[in-house]
Amino acid sequence: MVMSRHSPSGGSSGPRILVIEDEPTITEFLKTGLAYEGYEVIVALDGKTGLDLFREKEFDLIILDIMLPDIDGFEVCRRIRETGIETPILMLTAKKEISDRVTGLDIGADDYMTKPFSFDELLARMRALFRRAGRKLESAELHATDIVLNTDTREVFVRGKRVYLTPTEFSLLELFMRHPRRVFTRNTLLNRVWGYHYIGGTNIVDVHVSHLRDKIGDRPSRLIRTHYGVGYAFYPEA
Ligand code: CA
Repeated sequence: MVMSRHSPSGGSSGPRILVIEDEPTITEFLKTGLAYEGYEVIVALDGKTGLDLFREKEFDLIILDIMLPDIDGFEVCRRIRETGIETPILMLTAKKEISDRVTGLDIGADDYMTKPFSFDELLARMRALFRRAGRKLESAELHATDIVLNTDTREVFVRGKRVYLTPTEFSLLELFMRHPRRVFTRNTLLNRVWGYHYIGGTNIVDVHVSHLRDKIGDRPSRLIRTHYGVGYAFYPEA
């Protein structure tokens, strides 16, 4: 059984995220991925629009890029904090833009992430921010069959015994456990685990799934099943 998630804003729609970013590849990546995860995503392509939206609506989290066409992310962040509203802010930054201002987070942001990033890294950071904000979005522990995966400690136990996964294997298993019986294509897995910046063949997915099966003792594979010509799905035992 996988733990259910709780929406911090309550009601039927998921948490609302404001994305302030002008790069279409990234806004599309975030919109698609976050909507799939049940978040409501509103995109602003420049700082001014972002600030206007922030004043109009309530958000559970703001993803804010530093390099924007008009007002930069630092200034947007400063103006948001000026209002006294403490919505968590996750800054996006290109590696070359990392400065003491960002790493010290003295601008009032709660966390930052360097581009390129993987979708799972983003989700992990979002969850941490929600937890820190005292709005526990999800339990840190996932249970399925005899597997326990803890997203805080990054530990995995199979039949009570600790198994050691690489970060990629961990992300794959977490994704499978969060979406039982959902068939993931190799491309979706690439996008979700490796990130939008990954360029290469999809057979890397097969290699990592195979290692994961070995480590969790899924031989013959009953939990992670291959859908030939499509991809993989995770079937926890009832
Ligand atoms: Ca940008």
